[in-house]
Amino acid sequence: MIHRFHPFGGAFACAVLLLLAGCSTRLPLIREESSSSSSQQEEASLPEPPLQEEVLAVSDPAEEESSSEAAPEPPAEETADPSQLDLLLLVNAQNPLPEGYTVSLVPLDDGQAVAQEAVDDLRAMLADAQAQGLSPLVCSSYRTQEKQQSLYDKQVQQWLDQGYGLEDAQREAARWVAIPGTSEHQTGLAVDIVSLYNQVLDHSQETTEEQQWLMEHCWEYGFILRYPQDKQEITGITYEPWHYRYVGRETAAQIRDSGLCLEEYVAALAE
Ligand SMILES: [Zn+2]
Repeated sequence: MIHRFHPFGGAFACAVLLLLAGCSTRLPLIREESSSSSSQQEEASLPEPPLQEEVLAVSDPAEEESSSEAAPEPPAEETADPSQLDLLLLVNAQNPLPEGYTVSLVPLDDGQAVAQEAVDDLRAMLADAQAQGLSPLVCSSYRTQEKQQSLYDKQVQQWLDQGYGLEDAQREAARWVAIPGTSEHQTGLAVDIVSLYNQVLDHSQETTEEQQWLMEHCWEYGFILRYPQDKQEITGITYEPWHYRYVGRETAAQIRDSGLCLEEYVAALAE
């Protein structure tokens, strides 16, 4: 594992990106997660507890049955029923994860997990990539609020250690790790996939054969590259040639054909 993270080096890279992206951006550009490979290493060495336990029941069937007689109005939680998970759920700095969001998770290897809606297509995509002789590796997937908080706190601490005041440290940290409650990883619909032979989360990912194949074919399996280079001002997040988001096959094909990012696509649907 190569340790390439350095807060100031990162800040410099970020500043360069901001310049490249143009300074007219209205949204603060946030790098959605740490590029620190040490955090991956930590995830690998400290696997999270079995994730099936995190499958959350949305309502008590008995309760639902009795209430259906008295009131036709469904329980408020029903919108969060895993069987009705909104595959177009938009989670970003302006749209935090909905209150009481629940998701049925299916564990993958190495302590990873994704929403049950995404798992079959994800497995098919990875298997087909492997059949091409490629070695894709899911290095990040579902994160609990606590996990996101821990990643964020760790990032804040790194800036505090550099002598930053708390407010400044928090602002800098948010460029690298999404503020808890605003990370798409908390939906269970997002995965970071890297090449087994290059596990560093930087732009070098896009040059790997794995990433080139995924970028070309992900839509066939219902995934989109969520934070494209040419949409940074709209997504508010720097280019991430490793972060894929499940939206379902039909939608993924439409998004690919339209050239829109998820924010634009959702906005267009609402019109
Ligand atoms: Zn990601």
